[in-house]
Amino acid sequence: MTRHARTAALVLAAALLPSPARAAATVKVVASLPNLGAIARDIGGDRLDLTVIASGVQDAHFVDPKPSYIVKLRAADLLIVNGLDLEIGWIPPLAQGARNARVLPGGPGYVDASTGIPVVEIPANATRAEGDVHPYGNPHYLGDPLNALTVATTIAEALKKADPAGAASYDERRKAFAARLDQALFGAPLVELAGGAKLEREAAAGTLDHFLDATSIGGAPLRSKLGGWLGRMAPYRGKPIVTYHKDASYFAARFGLVVADYVEPKPGIPPSARHLEELTVRLQQGVAKVIVTRPYVEHRSTDLLAQKTGVAVVTLPLEVGGDPKATDFFALFDLVTERLAAALAPAGAGTAAPKGSGAR
Ligand SMILES: [Zn+2]
Repeated sequence: MTRHARTAALVLAAALLPSPARAAATVKVVASLPNLGAIARDIGGDRLDLTVIASGVQDAHFVDPKPSYIVKLRAADLLIVNGLDLEIGWIPPLAQGARNARVLPGGPGYVDASTGIPVVEIPANATRAEGDVHPYGNPHYLGDPLNALTVATTIAEALKKADPAGAASYDERRKAFAARLDQALFGAPLVELAGGAKLEREAAAGTLDHFLDATSIGGAPLRSKLGGWLGRMAPYRGKPIVTYHKDASYFAARFGLVVADYVEPKPGIPPSARHLEELTVRLQQGVAKVIVTRPYVEHRSTDLLAQKTGVAVVTLPLEVGGDPKATDFFALFDLVTERLAAALAPAGAGTAAPKGSGAR
């Protein structure tokens, strides 16, 4: 082989090698909210050129739509939204301004993450009368980490359609996401004994407790193996909490907590002085010992309630980025369960919540 031919062969070989730069960032994805963006990143990895519109310290109902996102949406292959009208005030103006039919409702790139989610609190008549911001049922379904599995599947399927060359990667990463979520939610020892898919099915059907109590392996009921986020929250099952907004319904159902009252009289309506007085009386009567609030809501009302009644107020992020420690979907629930368990623990029990095996 001449030197020239050898050089040509090398050049040819180099051209045939898969180029990492070319494989990266194949699909342009815009996610409305940080939790959706975090799940999309877990499923899509480096194949995504990902833009997330809202930050974790913004109220998902009331994001100010910056025109710069119109440019992103104009070029987007996929737009992932929470749906159930959560983003009604800010996604439609952005998407219409972008004039990209792909990412408008009904378009091939419009991904409604609420697809397949068992929605709760659906009103008999969808209405925004009196300012209710939940006209199609409660939109805060990612408060239940199990719902993230449905969302991950919806996103993986949309990515496979937009980028068929990445299909195997998306499938593999979705499976890895599910395995990691099972371990984080139930704890690795229980997943090993019972299998993640079985635990997911029992939890989704609301029969996990029965299954854990009725099944023994080696003489010990499976319940003794429960760890992860559920294990960490298990001592507080049945405990009442008050939340600022009606955004903890799915979370409470999954972890066995009871939402006894709200600081807002209706979702999206700030409390009147009279409502706060009534709530003060109920808290003094012992309706709950803990109020859950969010980083972006006003703290005047909850400060007042704490001052008058002595209840604890705990600020929990609802979205990835809502706290510096909530760096992804897993870190978000690590933080939320740890902080809430500490707030619900009886005085004197210390603030150290038992470490779930899913926690990193
Ligand atoms: Zn809401």
